[in-house]
Amino acid sequence: MDFCVLASGSKGNCTYVTDGESAVLIDIGLPSKTIVARLEEAQIDPASIQAILFTHDHIDHYRGADVFSKKFPVRLMANEGTASGIDRAFPKAKLNWEIFETAASFHIGNLHIEAFSVPHDASDPVGFVISDNTAKLGIVTDLGQPTPLVVNKLSTCDAIVLESNHDYEMLMASNRPWPLKTRIAGRSGHLSNEQATELLQQVLSDRLRLLLLAHLSEECNTHHLAQHLMRETLAACRRPDVVIASLQQNSISIRYTL
Ligand SMILES: [Zn+2]
Ligand SMILES: [Zn+2]
Repeated sequence: MDFCVLASGSKGNCTYVTDGESAVLIDIGLPSKTIVARLEEAQIDPASIQAILFTHDHIDHYRGADVFSKKFPVRLMANEGTASGIDRAFPKAKLNWEIFETAASFHIGNLHIEAFSVPHDASDPVGFVISDNTAKLGIVTDLGQPTPLVVNKLSTCDAIVLESNHDYEMLMASNRPWPLKTRIAGRSGHLSNEQATELLQQVLSDRLRLLLLAHLSEECNTHHLAQHLMRETLAACRRPDVVIASLQQNSISIRYTL
């Protein structure tokens, strides 16, 4: 399995996953034009994408859905709550949805997809575990708090894209209005760096070899802080071998092969 994160953060999220035959995007949170440019930069033909799977109905996860799906013959897949939420944002688009159950598992070609519920303040948010015959990738980017289900799903993955949104002190010291601070730090908001390390310790298995820190706040976090805390945690767990990187809002990641 190969994957590449095209964007990560509160201005837009999109991840490309392929097994060499089938190819999907998880979310399309930047304008279609930007997504096409980033796919081309990663030497991926936009017409090769078979499906877009949506995690939830926040604009940073679906902004490009309407235009991209009119341009390329792609399946749009989401649970009922997310599809309805996105439809409300594009009232004239008449998007042609394929609806899956929140706790569904299904195939797109040889890619096996498992969706599972996560706590976050959207209509019916999910995380995904995607596997082929060789590897398993977990993607959990907007998470208010870890749950036993999230721990269960992530604990068998070879690679995880995990939210490490904010440094709690930086969030509290920021100029953001108090209700926004409490929303972000709350049980259905976003994971702090510290919460991400706590979750990592719960899901750390012999299988895990790659950890990508995602959805970093541009104002209330730094790549150095998020990576440093996670490196310390992995060292304390005697797993300095796990490769760590943090994902960018404005540039694509390298292409990872599992
Ligand atoms: Zn988001
Ligand atoms: Zn969100």
